[in-house]
Amino acid sequence: MASAVDAVTATFRFYEELNDFLPRAQRGRDCVCACARAATVKHMIEALGVPHTEVELILVNGESCGFDRLLQDRDRVSVYPRFEAFDITPLLRVRGEPLRTTRFVADAHLGGLAHLLRMTGFDTLYDNHFADSEIESIAMREGRIVLTRDRELLKRRGVTHGCYVRAIKATPQLREIFSRLDLGRSARPFSLCLDCNAPLRRIDKTEVDGRVPPGVLARHDRFATCACCRRVFWEGSHWRRMRALVDELLPPGTA
Ligand SMILES: [Zn+2]
Repeated sequence: MASAVDAVTATFRFYEELNDFLPRAQRGRDCVCACARAATVKHMIEALGVPHTEVELILVNGESCGFDRLLQDRDRVSVYPRFEAFDITPLLRVRGEPLRTTRFVADAHLGGLAHLLRMTGFDTLYDNHFADSEIESIAMREGRIVLTRDRELLKRRGVTHGCYVRAIKATPQLREIFSRLDLGRSARPFSLCLDCNAPLRRIDKTEVDGRVPPGVLARHDRFATCACCRRVFWEGSHWRRMRALVDELLPPGTA
């Protein structure tokens, strides 16, 4: 039995949008918690409801630390999301390395977002039959960022990089992910097939004769095809609507 001597009580304070994951009564204030013995800060942060993927910086008693720091009695733990307002580079971020290439695996229900990410050129795996364990193993194996509205999925051990998606609809979700991960400069719009996630390749007008309606052939000069589904794409009205969204998301001069 644990005696009073080895009981560990620590005070947690969560900042900014991390409070969204807490019960209303605990938001924006100190929360004194009895911790399991030999609990790490990561364990306690997740036990309180905040997925570790949402955390960018942890201070214990004013000093930055990693997720594996063991809690000691009377520790004071401050937990921060990604900062918009000031530079924390002198402090230790909890995640060592950003992933080298930005690729995603999207949870079920995020099919619309997956298509929009493909539209902007980000390799995004999506299948609404993926189980949580499959998403976790794909993310580990392929170095993909997990996108989900399920915080339990982000707490899985193998998920090192993930984003809890707050918005409900696909277009605001895309804006949210672009802003949070600063994707504008690495976007390559219209380079992937929206359905297959496979690269699109330019093809000559002479090659599409018979594969598109005659009116399309008469009005358009630029065509692309997907190596996987072999469909032919052109810059029609659907493309123009997508183009408007892309122009809004990308920094001026990069589109
Ligand atoms: Zn395709």
